[in-house]
Amino acid sequence: MNFKICTMGELLVEFLAKEQHQRFDEIGEFIGPFPSGAPAIFASQIAKLGFPVVFFSCVGKDVFGKMCVQRLKADGVIIDGISTHHKATTGSAFVSYKGHNERDFIFNIPNSACGLLSFDHINENLLKDCNHLHVMGSSLYSFRVIDAMRKALDRVKNNGGTISFDPNLRKEMFDIPEMEASFDYIMDYTDIFLPSESEVSYFASQSGESEYQTMMTLLERGVKHIVVKGGAKGANYYGRDQHNNVQTLQVESYGVNAVDPTGAGDCFGATFVSLMLAGYDVESALQYANASGALAVLQKGPMEGTSTLAQLQQFIASQAS
Ligand code: ATP
Ligand code: MG
Repeated sequence: MNFKICTMGELLVEFLAKEQHQRFDEIGEFIGPFPSGAPAIFASQIAKLGFPVVFFSCVGKDVFGKMCVQRLKADGVIIDGISTHHKATTGSAFVSYKGHNERDFIFNIPNSACGLLSFDHINENLLKDCNHLHVMGSSLYSFRVIDAMRKALDRVKNNGGTISFDPNLRKEMFDIPEMEASFDYIMDYTDIFLPSESEVSYFASQSGESEYQTMMTLLERGVKHIVVKGGAKGANYYGRDQHNNVQTLQVESYGVNAVDPTGAGDCFGATFVSLMLAGYDVESALQYANASGALAVLQKGPMEGTSTLAQLQQFIASQAS
């Protein structure tokens, strides 16, 4: 099947606190810079699987930006959609782990080069060849990028393309009112929805309803495939089979020794979306996505755990024996 995926949003360098519970208001050691940004990790994972993916973003005219772009290029991402901003520096983030899955971030995004991303930076020639857009909720950090995302979404949909959406909510971003408003619009066009377990209640139509009820309402609204990501627990799939009956599937995660949870959801989503577009059946796409998430948590660094198809196959085979 012929498809080209695009995504847009934050491209930044990340610095990881060396110690768990390391505070941001005390002197401590950080490891980095690591190339990062949820849509960038998503794009890297798709490219590593060998599928075409365009990434729209902005970097500053500095070595952090150069490093990020070179890394994406080496992974096979189509980087022509990344512009260099002359008046802003490349985005950055500091991360500290508090426990297994809890993290604190300090983001320098709104005032960075990728924070200034607008539709003016989107090369429409590149966009018109794309028939799938992936939206990361974490990328909706400014009215400019929300506007760009809406326009890109309209273009892709009008061309008969499809949309995937991962809310990727970060508590640090909740003071952006336009972001919440844009979720409703995006959901109306979403074909593949990839929330985290903790984000499900945010999309419930009534408070207190079960995950199943929320998912049934979303399927009625027009979403075709939903995967609820549950970290070390695995993932739940909701969709409809060829007879239009509700189909649910559960996958348990692979038992691995996680060293860094960042990026697992992005790798999982990238693998699921691209394999579905490539015509894999739901079970196989889910199994590969599960493996992709597991391999991501085995590596320190947000984008360091992206995998090729051969690596996923090897990992799945090694777990079966
Ligand atoms: P985030 O909070 O970073 O946005 P997410 O909800 O998008 O995370 P996760 O649920 O953490 O993503 O991870 C996605 C998938 O990766 C899981 O559904 C699972 O398949 C796999 N995965 C994540 N953590 C682990 C782990 N510790 N061991 C094995 N597999 C894991
Ligand atoms: Mg996520």
